[in-house]
Amino acid sequence: MDPTPKPFSDGPLPILLRGSCLCGMVHLESKMLPESVTICHCRECRKAAANPFLTFGLFHNDYIQWYIASSSGAKPLLGDLTDGIKLTYYSDIAIRGWCPRCGTPLFMKYHCRPDGTSIAMGLVDDEHLVGSIPAVKEHIFLGDKAVWWNVPSDDGTARHDSFNEPFTRRLQDWSAKGRPQRLDIPPPPSKFKL
Ligand SMILES: [Zn+2]
Ligand SMILES: [Zn+2]
Repeated sequence: MDPTPKPFSDGPLPILLRGSCLCGMVHLESKMLPESVTICHCRECRKAAANPFLTFGLFHNDYIQWYIASSSGAKPLLGDLTDGIKLTYYSDIAIRGWCPRCGTPLFMKYHCRPDGTSIAMGLVDDEHLVGSIPAVKEHIFLGDKAVWWNVPSDDGTARHDSFNEPFTRRLQDWSAKGRPQRLDIPPPPSKFKL
C-alpha cells in the first residue's frame, strides 16, 4: 500500500466507518473507506465464517483503530492487538483476529503486506457509514469454492482460482526475502492451533 500520514495521531480526517462484532466487545473506527473489497472462497475463510465465503475490505493500518470493551470503558488497542483480540494462525502467511468473547472473525493480516489489514466487512455498521463502500472487486480462491454455492454470472467481478496476480507476486517477493514477519505481531506457534 502507499505510504501515508498517520491520521490517528491528531489528523483532522473524520471517522468514515465504524464496525463491531456480534457481541459488541470489539469496535472499529476507520478514517478511510476500504481501498478494495474482495470475496474469498478459501477453505479457511469458509470455515472461519461457517458460510461459503468471507468478504474483506482492505484498509491501511494507520487509518483504523480497534477498541475493546473493558471495565473502564472502550480501550483503544495498540497496533500489535495482543492485549485483547484473539489471534490465530491457520497458515504461515497470515494471522487472523477474532472477538475473544463471541468469536466473530475480525480481520486477516498478511506478513507480506504489513501496512494493510483485510477487515471482515460483516463488521461494518451501516448506520455509521459516511460515503459508499466500493463494489466488490474480485472473487479469490474459487478453486476452493463450496460446491453448492454459485458465483453470480453478472456481478462484474474479476475471478481467480487463488490469489490475484499482483498479490501472488507480492507473496513471491516476500518469500524471496526470507519471509520476514512484522515485528509487532507475535511469531506463529510451531503447530497451528486455536
Ligand atoms: Zn464479540
Ligand atoms: Zn480466504
